[in-house]
Amino acid sequence: PSFLNKMYTFDNFVEGKSNELAKAASSQVSENMGRAYNPLLIYGSSGLGKTHLMHAIGNAILAKKPSVNIVYVHSEKFVQDMVKALQQNTINVFKEYYRNLDVLLIDDIQFFASKERSQEEFFHTFNTLLEKKHQVVLTSDKYPKEIANLAERLKSRFSSGLPVTIEPPDMETRAAILMKKAAIVNVDLHQDVALFIAKRIPSNVRDLEGALRRVIANAQFTGREITIDFTKEALHDLISMRDKLVDINNIQKTVAEYYKIRIADLSSKSRRQAITRPRQVAMSLARELTSLSYPDIGDAFGGRDHTTVISACNRVKELKESDVKVSEDYFNLLRTLSH
Ligand code: ADP
Ligand code: MG
Repeated sequence: PSFLNKMYTFDNFVEGKSNELAKAASSQVSENMGRAYNPLLIYGSSGLGKTHLMHAIGNAILAKKPSVNIVYVHSEKFVQDMVKALQQNTINVFKEYYRNLDVLLIDDIQFFASKERSQEEFFHTFNTLLEKKHQVVLTSDKYPKEIANLAERLKSRFSSGLPVTIEPPDMETRAAILMKKAAIVNVDLHQDVALFIAKRIPSNVRDLEGALRRVIANAQFTGREITIDFTKEALHDLISMRDKLVDINNIQKTVAEYYKIRIADLSSKSRRQAITRPRQVAMSLARELTSLSYPDIGDAFGGRDHTTVISACNRVKELKESDVKVSEDYFNLLRTLSH
C-alpha cells in the first residue's frame, strides 16, 4: 500500500462534461462512505484522472476524519505483496490487514487478469469489506466484462456497484486543467497560451501536463515570458506535426464564412474595414495555428509584405484586449478551427 498524494484533491480536479459524473459520484462516496455507491468503479482510458479522483476520495475522507483507516494500493502491488506473503508464510497477516480496512482504494484492476490466486484472495477481501459496508473504490481502463482471464464472479462483483466513466476532456476543459496545473506551481498561464497547448496536445491529460512542464521549465531556464511564440518553440517537436493539419486555406475559408465575405476578399486590395478586420484576424490565426513564417503568410494573402502581416498580428493582439467583439470573434474562430 502507498500513501495518498496530497495534490490529488477535488479542489485540484477540474470539472468538465467529460468527468462531471465521475467527480460527483466520487464526492458522494467521500461524504457517505460505504453507503452511497459500493463499490464505486471509475472507468476510463489512461491519463484521464482516475487515480487522481481515487486519491481525492481518500484525501477528502481523511480531511474530515483523520482516524479512518484508508489504503490506496495499485492492483499490481496487491498481487506482488500477496505473492510475497505466500512465500513468507504471512498470508494471514496480509488477509487481516486488508479485511480490516475502512476504505480500500484499489487502482487499475485490469492487472488482476490471469492472476488466479490473487483474484481468489481479492474476491474474499472484497466480499468481507462489502459485507461490513466498508467502502471499496476501483479503477479500470477496461470494463470488467472485457477483462480477459478474470473470473466471472469477480466481473459481476466489480460491476455490482456504480460504474462511472471518464471521457477525454474537451478543449476548454483541457485548457482549464493547464491553467490549474500552472497555478499550482505559481505560474500565471495566459488563457491564450493554455488554449494553444490544449489544442495541440489533444490526447490525455498526462501528455498535456508533460508539455506544460516542459514549457515552464524552459521559461524558468531562459528567463523568458511564456507567450504563444515561446510555447511554439518549446514544444516544437510535439506540435509541428499537428500544425500541418490546420492549413491556411482552411483558415481563410472559415474566416470568410464567419464574417460573411468572400474568400477572395481576404487577398484583395480592399481597404474597407468590413474586409480589413477579417483579413487581419485571418493572418493572426494563420500565425497562431500554422508554422508558416510572416513572409509565407503574406504570400497567401495576395502577395503582401511580411511587415503587413506583423502589423496585422500586433493590431489583433491589441484589439483582443480592448475590443470585446474582436476578442469574441477570435476565440470563436480559434475554437472552430481547432475542432
Ligand atoms: P489515470 O489514473 O486515469 O491514468 P491520472 O489520475 O494519473 O490518470 O491523471 C493523469 C494526470 O492528469 C494527473 O497528474 C492528474 O492530476 C491529471 N488530471 C487528469 N484529469 C484532471 C482534471 N480533470 N483536473 C486536473 N488534473 C487532472
Ligand atoms: Mg491511474
